[in-house]
Amino acid sequence: MKWENEKGESGSIDCENVINCGGMWGHEVGRMLGVNVPLHACEHFYIVTEAIAGLTQMPVLRVPDECAYYKEDAGKMLLGAFEPVSKPWAMEGIPQDFEFDQLPEDFDHFEPILESAVERMPMLAEAGIHTFFNGPESFTPDDAYHLGLAPEMDNVWVAAGFNSVGIQSAGGAGQALAQWMEDGQKPFDLGDVDISRMQPFQGNKHYLFERSKETLGLLYADHFPYLQKKTARGVRRSPFHSHLKENGAVFGELAGWERANWFANVGQSLSYEYSWKRQNFFDNVAAEHKAVRENLGLYDMSSFGKIRVEGPGACAFMNYIGGGQYDVPVGKIVYTQFLNDRAGIEADVTVTRMSETAYLVVTPAATRLADQTWMMRNKGAI
Ligand SMILES: Cc1cc2nc3c(=O)[nH]c(=O)nc-3n(C[C@H](O)[C@H](O)[C@H](O)COP(=O)(O)OP(=O)(O)OC[C@H]3O[C@@H](n4cnc5c(N)ncnc54)[C@H](O)[C@@H]3O)c2cc1C
Repeated sequence: MKWENEKGESGSIDCENVINCGGMWGHEVGRMLGVNVPLHACEHFYIVTEAIAGLTQMPVLRVPDECAYYKEDAGKMLLGAFEPVSKPWAMEGIPQDFEFDQLPEDFDHFEPILESAVERMPMLAEAGIHTFFNGPESFTPDDAYHLGLAPEMDNVWVAAGFNSVGIQSAGGAGQALAQWMEDGQKPFDLGDVDISRMQPFQGNKHYLFERSKETLGLLYADHFPYLQKKTARGVRRSPFHSHLKENGAVFGELAGWERANWFANVGQSLSYEYSWKRQNFFDNVAAEHKAVRENLGLYDMSSFGKIRVEGPGACAFMNYIGGGQYDVPVGKIVYTQFLNDRAGIEADVTVTRMSETAYLVVTPAATRLADQTWMMRNKGAI
């Protein structure tokens, strides 16, 4: 690994493994290593009051509906916010000299949080503000941190993008990563945070800037089933997009793809009404299901990953990597999983035999890169 400091000195360090734990610098550090680490810095605000007479230790309070958290801090109150529209920072890059530093306060931005907080905890109206703190930290496109072996390199690891839960998550994330590095296998299912879930396009700075306006606030939002992100949408569309739209499609996003999640009836609002119970599209999906079951349906699978495996060893390779029997007649489709040495599931795919020496592996949109990486890393095994 090459290094360079501000005095213009440079050199290189030989090492077996590199871990990019560069926090909000992780994206930039990733670029130095040729590895995509999608994250963006956002401003995170809290205030600390002057000492409040008689205030003793109290439980930490979270009020998600008001986007606020409260902690007693040495006889003072600390009030922090995860507001719905946050402020991404340093789109043009984090200044070279920024380290353990603060950003300017923005009282107008924090005021709505403080107003509700005064209603919730009236003593705040009397207490003066001792500190207005604004510190940047990193947020990822899906609000989950990045852990594990980078898809692009076999000895570059990532532990970054901690979405304001880096202190709380550090012990577990560190242990999981250490175990993974030691054993060469994930110690348990880490799909939610595995860096290989990220798509190449998610390293785009404009995309990250837009998406991170939303992700900070989602920390305290209700995580309804099917909740759709509002920012940085429309990145990938299928050739059928306008046709689906004209027919009432209500889209949802997966790995950047806009997919028709359900079809609204004429006159019905084309939007989700989120709920913990049956949501507004229940009957629409039921009708679609019935139509396909009793008649005929055509599905747009454009978002799925397609990986072609070709060569004289293709059949042997497929039979090594997958749990099924792929030595089947040309044209036949086999649905199985790719398994690891512990019989854990690495991928869930359909495989079509195209010829004696070629297969088409169709993978879920979200795991295309992870599945392809798993195949590439195992191709030397037979
Ligand atoms: C105001 C605020 C309140 C927070 N409250 C909480 C909380 O209550 N609970 C919680 O769990 N989390 C909280 N967090 C989040 C938590 O602080 C972070 O998630 C955590 O510190 C991130 O740790 P890290 O090791 O990933 O990154 P960092 O601690 O940022 O470490 C990254 C390091 O990489 C170094 N670096 C950068 N570039 C290079 C380079 N080129 N070469 C060498 N080194 C480099 C940096 O100098 C830095 O030391 C809060 C954050 C903020 C800003």
